[in-house]
Amino acid sequence: MSLKIHYRGHLSDCNYSCPYCPFALSRNTPEEQARDARDLARFVAWVQANPTRPLEILITPYGEALARSWYREAVRELSHLPQVERIAVQTNLSCPVQWLEDCNRQRLALWLSYHPDQVTATKFLGKCQALGAMEIRYSVGVVGLREHFAAIAALRTQLPPEVYLWVNAYKDQPHYYRPAEIAWLTGIDPLFPDNLRDYPSLGQPCRTGSEAILVDGDGRISRCHFIKDELGRLFEDDLDSLLQPRPCTRALCDCHIGYVHMNQLPFYERYGPGLLERIPLRNPGFRIDPLP
Ligand code: SF4
Ligand code: SF4
Repeated sequence: MSLKIHYRGHLSDCNYSCPYCPFALSRNTPEEQARDARDLARFVAWVQANPTRPLEILITPYGEALARSWYREAVRELSHLPQVERIAVQTNLSCPVQWLEDCNRQRLALWLSYHPDQVTATKFLGKCQALGAMEIRYSVGVVGLREHFAAIAALRTQLPPEVYLWVNAYKDQPHYYRPAEIAWLTGIDPLFPDNLRDYPSLGQPCRTGSEAILVDGDGRISRCHFIKDELGRLFEDDLDSLLQPRPCTRALCDCHIGYVHMNQLPFYERYGPGLLERIPLRNPGFRIDPLP
C-alpha cells in the first residue's frame, strides 16, 4: 500500500487577493523563497532516495506554489519517479500550463480552485481546456459564497460534464446557508452535503498517522493539518517505526482534506485512486437549477 504524503513547505504567499484568505497578496522575501526552494529540493531528494516505498503526494501550500519555478520543477521530477504513484497539487492555475507537457501525465493530477473575483471565466476555462488536451486529470473547486452563485452556475455550464466541480461550504459564518441555497448547491455538486457538515472525530480511528502523513518544509512529520504534534522527522527517523494507527484527538473534523481519511467514512471507496486530487471514482453528475 502506498503512503500518502501531504507536503506543505514554508511558502506562504499568493498572487491572488481572495478577501477571506490570510495569504492574499502576501509576498515571501527572497530569503524565505530560497529557504522554501532548498527545503523542497531536500524533500524531492528524499523521495528519490527511497525507491521502494510507493508514495502518493499532494502539495498543499499556504498560498500558490505553482507560481514558483521550484515547485513546477519538483512536480515534473516527482512525476517521473516510478515510486510516485500520484503527484497532485492544489493550485489556482494562474501559472502557465505548457510546462505540464514535460511531466508524466499518467501520474500527475491537479486540484484546481476557481476564484471568480480574481480571474475571468474565459481565462480559467481556457487553461482547463489546455489541461484536457494534455489529458491531465483535474477537479475544480469553488468556495460556495453567495455572491459567487451565478459564476458557479456559469462555470458548471461551461466545464466539460466529465470534470467534477466541487463546492466547499463557507463555514466561517455559522448557519450561512438557507435550505434553498443548500438544495441549489447540492444540484451543482451532489457531494456538497458531505462538506457542509462537520464530523465528530474524537477517539475515532483515522488513517492519518499510519497511511497518510503531513510533512513540512523542515521534514517534521505530523499526522494531519489539524493535529500538529510531531511524530518524527522525515530525514532522520525510521519512517516505519512512526507509522501506526492512532485515534483522533480533536472533537471535530470539518475539512475535506482531513475527514476523507476517517476509517468509518466511505471516502476511500468513493474516491479510490483520485482521493488526493478530489476526483470521485464515479462522477456524481450535476443539475443546474435556477438561482435560489
Ligand atoms: S488563491 Fe487560494 S491561497 Fe491565493 S488568496 Fe485565494 S484562497 Fe488564498
Ligand atoms: S479525523 Fe481529521 S483531525 Fe482527526 S486525525 Fe483525522 S484528519 Fe486529523
